[in-house]
Amino acid sequence: MADHRKMWQSLGLDLASHDQLMDVLPISYGSVYMNQENRPEGMEYFDFVVSEVHGQRIQELQDHKAAGGKVVGAFCVYVPEEIVRAAGGIQVGLCSGVEIGTAQAEKVLPRNICPLIKSFMGFKLGKVCPYFESSDMVVGETTCDGKKKAFEILNDYVPVYVMETPQMKREKDKALWLSEVQDFLATLEEYTGNKVTAESLRQAIKETNDKRRSLLRLNKLRLQDPAPISGKDCLLIEQISMYDDVPRFTAQVNALCDELEVRVKGGRGVAEAGGPRLILSGTPMALPNWKVPHVIETSGAVIVGEEMCTGLRYFENLVPEDGETVEQMVEAIAARYLDINCACFTPNESRMEKIVSLTREMKAHGVINCTLAFCDPYLVEANRVAKRLKEHNIPLLDLETDYGQEDTAQIKTRIEAFLEMLANR
Ligand code: SF4
Ligand code: SF4
Repeated sequence: MADHRKMWQSLGLDLASHDQLMDVLPISYGSVYMNQENRPEGMEYFDFVVSEVHGQRIQELQDHKAAGGKVVGAFCVYVPEEIVRAAGGIQVGLCSGVEIGTAQAEKVLPRNICPLIKSFMGFKLGKVCPYFESSDMVVGETTCDGKKKAFEILNDYVPVYVMETPQMKREKDKALWLSEVQDFLATLEEYTGNKVTAESLRQAIKETNDKRRSLLRLNKLRLQDPAPISGKDCLLIEQISMYDDVPRFTAQVNALCDELEVRVKGGRGVAEAGGPRLILSGTPMALPNWKVPHVIETSGAVIVGEEMCTGLRYFENLVPEDGETVEQMVEAIAARYLDINCACFTPNESRMEKIVSLTREMKAHGVINCTLAFCDPYLVEANRVAKRLKEHNIPLLDLETDYGQEDTAQIKTRIEAFLEMLANR
């Protein structure tokens, strides 16, 4: 890895804490990813991205800023990245999937709060995240109460622009959300000094859709039996989709899909044909949270889809590309985003329908609904998920976990028992 210390120093990172983070990442990455057998060659690019996640990509962001561009950090798939792109900005995900800066975070947050919130606060207060320190603008949303209130505190350390996401999907909620997206566009124009034109927005919609199309292609290919790629690798790609350069990422995913098509034709897979196939559902798994997928796939099952924001919720719907004016395109963007089935909405019937239909489409044998501890929306909604899956006779395992490793053995025992039950059905 090239020496990026000067850049990290200039960003104001706490180098000692950052070193600790960078020391741990290669070890966990090696044991989770590099020991997989029969891995597609196209994964090399994504391995490289992870090895340079705080290096080359950060340098690219710095180059973009030096050329007058802005970097926008976001925490939720509700922040419309097409608008950031059309205003000449780069959007990066700030959610984090690792326990770090916990002591600092607990000085301003309650101990019993979702690990994702604690982690992003710890990243900021501990000064270990170069994406945070590269962001000119940080965008929050009013999805869940924990995040909504945490953004007030985060605003003491970095200005946070908050979009109001409705909690229901009635006509008046749609109108509210449209006005929020319109305000976001105006704010971005002011912040970047760039006018969003019909041409720039059309281009941004097309490029973002191309990224989603490449991910949809990947997700179709992985459904084959035997699966030509592991679920862990697919999750990694989905996590990287929140950070990487959009056209380059799209090209790399498509190149990987070309390779997977050859594998599928030759019947080559990463696991035996006819083995257990599972869907992962629940809260997002931000980089580098791979604990549960790793346990699942080292217990003999393959994950064939993620009903998550680091998964299908991020890319399943496209923005229609036939809008002619900025206004029409903004309306199409707002409608597309409001279709995301986050548990912050009530009722959230379309998520239940989606999990059932995905299970059928993906020929999955069961669902693992995995929720981060203290995440009220998803923990409470687990009851609705269980009820619906039971009505459809779809086996379900509910897990609640955090970013620590202490419960790994217990999770493994439960997953193995679940797989045994599936084998005996
Ligand atoms: S789970 Fe909800 S709040 Fe979290 S990223 Fe997804 S849409 Fe946003
Ligand atoms: S995981 Fe749950 S509690 Fe945590 S930020 Fe997302 S919706 Fe909020």
